[in-house]
Amino acid sequence: MLTQPMPRPATTALCLIFCLFLAGCQQQPAEHKAQFFIFGTLLEVSLWDTPPETASRAFGELQDMFQQMHNDWHAWEPGQLTEINRAFQAGLPALASPSIVKLVEYSQQAELKTDGRFNPAIGALVGLWGFHTSDYPIEGPPPAGSQIRALVATAPSSLDITIDGQQLTTSNRAVQLDFGGIAKGYAIDIACDHLKTLGINNAIVNAGGDLRAMGDHGSRPWRIAVRSPGGGIIGSLQTTRDEAVFTSGNYERFRQDQLQRYPHILDPRTGWPVQDVASVTVITRQGWLADAAATALIVAGLEEWQGVAISLGLDQVMLVDETGKAWVTEKMNERLEFVDGVEKEVVNF
Ligand code: AMP
Ligand code: MG
Repeated sequence: MLTQPMPRPATTALCLIFCLFLAGCQQQPAEHKAQFFIFGTLLEVSLWDTPPETASRAFGELQDMFQQMHNDWHAWEPGQLTEINRAFQAGLPALASPSIVKLVEYSQQAELKTDGRFNPAIGALVGLWGFHTSDYPIEGPPPAGSQIRALVATAPSSLDITIDGQQLTTSNRAVQLDFGGIAKGYAIDIACDHLKTLGINNAIVNAGGDLRAMGDHGSRPWRIAVRSPGGGIIGSLQTTRDEAVFTSGNYERFRQDQLQRYPHILDPRTGWPVQDVASVTVITRQGWLADAAATALIVAGLEEWQGVAISLGLDQVMLVDETGKAWVTEKMNERLEFVDGVEKEVVNF
């Protein structure tokens, strides 16, 4: 194994570790892995059956791309997005990079189809709750109800944004973009698309269980684990061709006081964290959609998740409720091999 740490940039925390695993006693490495640190998340890229020179070129280019995304899309570290939010607050138009324009477009689609349950314009509310941090858990009581109500009353929405080429304008000064619910998915899409342009068709880009897998692992498909809200895994599945698997949960990132936990996914209509769903897993082709959908379906909750999933065009979804019971669509049930002891109910749509 070869390990080659890269220098850590001063302004962001992005690192790269090369691991080349040799296949048996052959000298050609069969699998190449690299790790990156982006938006406070460790992201691992695995390439199967790729020439070493192509792998190192891919990893170098991905590092630059992830660094750019980290700088441009970060919700609270100073960069392009914080500049855009500052312009919106001042009632001014803002210039955005093509990737941010795309994030706004995707976000608008997700907000529209989820009837506002996914809303990336609630950055001020996310900040008020203290969720603009990578250090979890946050200790302390929730913000004052009056502050929460005041921000909800400003009704920010990504649909308030008009896109004209690379210029963004908003009719609502309360719009503060926070792509925390979609950025990882879109970053993974960009990475996968780039790998394809380099002729790499067998790969996984994995951010702690949120991933997109392409092609296969030699003679067998990629097999991936699905995270359980209680820790560990709830099951595993084989990916086919090119698809994304994303899980959103209320179990890792939260604020807590002596009384209770306040998870980091907020219901934009109330301004309060969603409590009654432990996790949602979505499988679909695009990472951005899987990511945004998993976040939105947490907000939709037990009562509404099926209707919102249909509206998003999804048929492979699992929701785990607070008791640990899994509610799965038929198609998800066909694919997911549960670990022993999981209570589940299959819903048809
Ligand atoms: P995820 O882990 O993909 O579910 O994304 C959670 C992150 O998305 C949070 O840390 C916030 O930055 C942001 N967020 C919270 N609530 C919402 C919401 N209702 N719609 C869109 N983004 C949200
Ligand atoms: Mg998400």
